[in-house]
Amino acid sequence: MHVLLCLVCVFSLFGQYRLTPLPQDEHDQSIHATKPAQNDLSMATKYLQHFYSFQADPAGRRRRSRPSFSSKLKDMQSFFGLNRTGTLNPATLIVMRTPRCGVSDVEDYSHRRGNKWKKNLITYGVGQYTGHLPVNIVDSLISSALDVWAKASPLTFLRSYSHEADIMVEFVRNDHGDSFPFDGPEGTLAHAYGPGAGIGGDVHFDEAESWTVGSKGFNLYLVAAHEFGHALGLKHSQNPESVMYPTYKNRKTYNVLSSEDIININTLYGPRNKRPSPSSRFIWSYPSDPWHSGSNFPVSLKETCNPDLTFDAVTTVGEALFFFRDKYLWIKHNNQNDIKEGPISNFMPNVDCKIDAAYWVPQRATAYLFNGTVFWTVKGSQVKSRARNIRTFGFPSWVQHIDAAVHIHRTAHTLFFTEHLYWRYNEHYKSMNDSSPRNISEDFPGINGPINAAVYKDGSLHFFVGSDVYKYDTKQKEIIGVYKTMSWLGC
Ligand SMILES: [Zn+2]
Ligand SMILES: [Zn+2]
Repeated sequence: MHVLLCLVCVFSLFGQYRLTPLPQDEHDQSIHATKPAQNDLSMATKYLQHFYSFQADPAGRRRRSRPSFSSKLKDMQSFFGLNRTGTLNPATLIVMRTPRCGVSDVEDYSHRRGNKWKKNLITYGVGQYTGHLPVNIVDSLISSALDVWAKASPLTFLRSYSHEADIMVEFVRNDHGDSFPFDGPEGTLAHAYGPGAGIGGDVHFDEAESWTVGSKGFNLYLVAAHEFGHALGLKHSQNPESVMYPTYKNRKTYNVLSSEDIININTLYGPRNKRPSPSSRFIWSYPSDPWHSGSNFPVSLKETCNPDLTFDAVTTVGEALFFFRDKYLWIKHNNQNDIKEGPISNFMPNVDCKIDAAYWVPQRATAYLFNGTVFWTVKGSQVKSRARNIRTFGFPSWVQHIDAAVHIHRTAHTLFFTEHLYWRYNEHYKSMNDSSPRNISEDFPGINGPINAAVYKDGSLHFFVGSDVYKYDTKQKEIIGVYKTMSWLGC
């Protein structure tokens, strides 16, 4: 864990201004407050324009309809818990010179950005890396900073290597294509856009800052945790304990969220759904099958750790595994114990049905989801197409559903399983192999259809058949392990 030094004061807000020595006694302070130096006034005007929507009057003209400098200054002083003097006193100047987030403190988010994401599965990517830290460190800090919010909400963040991710992270300098140029070292450190398409959700870091993992320079993890709060729809907080406080401040790097932050993210997205501890195994004793009780999901952790658990479809998606059952979805990240779960429509709003089969093509960063004779393509967490007919793949009309699908990256083939048969589809040429369909049991000795789901992971095929999973070695053509389905969810 990193400990930060307090960096309050001694930074000039805008590059061209330099801090003038602050008066030491009351007498000096009163002089300073009544006659601010010209550069202080100029700096403060820019500050209020940028962060408090102050509109300066054109020289020599005074428009009474606009809030005055003094009233905007009072707003700023109120925000930071300073005395509402309406004059530029040293305490106010110190706050104005503290390095901070570039997002306004009074911005009405609704006009420029949406309030929240309408889905719980959010993709992120890093477009432009910083030169201050190694790529793997940046990846790890960004992932940890998102995890701060994932742990407090039902949201799940999925790394995307396309440039179309919901949250794109960029390290950029000066003018960088939006209307908010950075200002060189210190001053504004980063800014972010609230949820939405295009630039919505994106986070920009000022590459002119010295980004670090520790207490010197600016701690990237802490600033990223703050900016991701904006990317999820949160505004600045007046509470210095909140990670959404606008100025950079000394804070611990564990338990970064204050109780206010947790309440605010829960207000937007609801509380996180708790995972059961492995000890909470239970005996299946429900009066009715909760899996088939309609659109409500009385799915608790208890049911997850049911030894009879089966899945309809399993697929890798990027670095995560997706498990589908009826209209429910579990998402497990490869390197984390954390599992997110909920109705599929929480994660993919346009998909409100059972998924029979699913597979992922990493080269296209695209998932294919099947229901009956139709399928959807999903890129990131966006459902990219209307449902299309599976005839597109070359299936004959008598195929009315797909039991399972799995893509094998090494050979660029996708295998589709239906009842006792399977098809081999070449993703490169987008054509079905001439010899398809073939009998599953002939080519995969020991595996008898129908199968529920299949996934290729760690060099092996895994066939989900009822509540058992068969690990299959494709070179030796034999089953090399049998596991309970529930073990894939950490039970
Ligand atoms: Zn901010
Ligand atoms: Zn920007």
